[in-house]
Amino acid sequence: MSEPEQQPERPASHLEKEEAWLWRIALLFLVLFATTVAALLWERLHALPYHLGLLPIAILFVAICFVAFAYGRRKQVSELKDLLHGLQERVSNPSEEQLDQLGQVIARSQRSFKELLDSFDDVAFAMSLDGTLRTVNRRVTQLLDIPYTALVGAKLDNFVDEPLRNAAEAGLARFLERRRWAGLVRVRLKNSQRVLYFDCVLSAIIKGDEVVGVSTLARDVTEEREKERRFTELFETLQEGFYFSTPEGKLLDANPALVHMLGYGGKEELLALDPTAMNFDPGQSPALGRTADDEGDVRTREISLKRKDGTVGIFLDTSRAVWDTAGKIIRYQGTLVDVTERRGMEKALRRQEEFQRYLLESFPDLILVIDLHEHYGFASARIRDLLGYAPDDWVGKKVEEQDQSPEFLALCRDVSTGRKKFGFCEYGARHRDGSWRTMRATASPLFDAESKLSGVIASVRDITVEKKLEQQIIQSERLAAMGQMIGGFAHELNNPLTSILGVTELLQDAQVPEQVRKQLTMLQQQSRRAAEIVQNLMYFSRPPAPGKGAINLSELVQRTLHLHAYSLRKNNITVDFLPEAALPSVNGDPHQLMQVFLNLILNAEQAIREARDRGTLRVRLVKGEKSVSVTFQDDGPGISPEILPNIFDPFYTTKRPGRGTGLGLSICKAILREHSGNVEATSGPGGGAVFTVTLPVT
Ligand code: ADP
Repeated sequence: MSEPEQQPERPASHLEKEEAWLWRIALLFLVLFATTVAALLWERLHALPYHLGLLPIAILFVAICFVAFAYGRRKQVSELKDLLHGLQERVSNPSEEQLDQLGQVIARSQRSFKELLDSFDDVAFAMSLDGTLRTVNRRVTQLLDIPYTALVGAKLDNFVDEPLRNAAEAGLARFLERRRWAGLVRVRLKNSQRVLYFDCVLSAIIKGDEVVGVSTLARDVTEEREKERRFTELFETLQEGFYFSTPEGKLLDANPALVHMLGYGGKEELLALDPTAMNFDPGQSPALGRTADDEGDVRTREISLKRKDGTVGIFLDTSRAVWDTAGKIIRYQGTLVDVTERRGMEKALRRQEEFQRYLLESFPDLILVIDLHEHYGFASARIRDLLGYAPDDWVGKKVEEQDQSPEFLALCRDVSTGRKKFGFCEYGARHRDGSWRTMRATASPLFDAESKLSGVIASVRDITVEKKLEQQIIQSERLAAMGQMIGGFAHELNNPLTSILGVTELLQDAQVPEQVRKQLTMLQQQSRRAAEIVQNLMYFSRPPAPGKGAINLSELVQRTLHLHAYSLRKNNITVDFLPEAALPSVNGDPHQLMQVFLNLILNAEQAIREARDRGTLRVRLVKGEKSVSVTFQDDGPGISPEILPNIFDPFYTTKRPGRGTGLGLSICKAILREHSGNVEATSGPGGGAVFTVTLPVT
């Protein structure tokens, strides 16, 4: 360990001695002054309360403390002064070692400065006015891919085609005068032929009062420039209209596509427009404007704009605000897409779709589409009229679930599997109200856009009425044919029967034994019965022309019920009859119509008796639009669906021999045909049979 070097004592200057003397005098004076004040006040202060008498002592003590502190500081100041003085002396007469140290400090500082420059991401270099590089930072060596030593001392022109110098030379005089220049410089590097853009700040290096070089700090903005260029290119070439506008809707800029869309010759013409000039409705606020309380969020909407030629276009406008760094809206940017044609096409398509929908809805048949998995894919609105359902009740449901008949399902399967190219079937379908309807379905395959089989399309028609009419025609034809034949038979039988009856009566009058008389009576009875049947047959084949007149049906039914009241009562059959006073009259023969009603009452009575020992016959009169109906509803066993189509046939009977001839209902039918009416049979809701006689009103 070496001894610390002894500093030679510095002789105090005359002035410093003077200063120390003054310090001492001032501080001594302060102590004396404090002591005097304390002594003078001593007596008076004794009289004061709260021990204030101690105040002079405290003042004296504070003064002494302050003097001690000030003296101590004075010493420190003088020590610092000495130190500074020593340092000054050392600098003015440096030793070799000190010079070494100084050199090291300077070298270190230069290194730090270089490191600082190298740490910049920006380009930094200094060059003389003739373009010789004096120093460059690491970014320059990286950019040019040349080592530092090769760069320093070389001319800048060796490395760049369009050097910064050109920029500086262009305004050299101004630069030399102002000594600073800032701006954008385009540079082409010789090593890569790349074009780069730099945002440069050039500062003059001054020696004395003369500019000897240029220091340059340049930021590579090539990427930003590229982005800007690409954006400009995009802006110019976009097919969508692009614009910048003020919040009031005044266009600030527009791309060529927008100019073209709105039919203007050039951008200037469009930008010169008033904000409301493009309004379709001039009374409204500018089409592209925003309201005062608008927050500038993205706004997408469809607007109508007036083109230059006055036509109106529909545009999809999407815009949003552009804010500055302080959060203030400076402008709006947006796109406009011309959707006029698209909207037109959509409208035409909608019209076409509507036409197709109306076509299907107005089509007299129900249209059904069944997919390959046997689900309903479509049902036209006619389903409401035909079956009482809404299309949605069926769409998506399986065919089997919807109460369809096996015939229809089989037809769909035949068509969907290709077994049949086209087919039809008749089937019974249940209406939502529970009644059965007869349908005729025609089905053919349905193909999709790729001509692939996608299901079955069926057209369904309600043929219930047609079928009934058809049956009626068949029946009436059959009846007419039978009537003719039966008429012939009846005439032929009538003559011998009349003779038999006549002879029997004559023989009864003659004197014959009792046994023979009994047999003659039986013969007469059977002959009368046979004659009755023959009468009925003749009646059926050619009923007498009705002696028509206005009839009150309610009264006629009531009279018939009275006639048969005894028998009904005897058989425990209650008659539930509601007479209708306000019924319109019908035109007809009361005797023949009474025979019809009597037949129906008798049938009901027999049917009830067959099933049980008591029952009810319900008789109602119903007024139709142009007709009056009488229904006879019994609670007998009813008529099974299998025999229902046959009961009006002549000689059709289910009763045992002797109880029924099977002519009753066919005679009713014949009489009613003569009256332009009809009689129909159905099964009652709770069992039993319902016969409805319908007659046209007068
Ligand atoms: P008949 O009464 O002589 O048999 P109809 O022509 O009057 O002849 O009747 C034909 C058939 O119709 C009857 O045999 C019977 O099967 C059926 N029928 C008629 N009325 C009824 C009824 N109220 N209930 C059940 N079946 C009936």
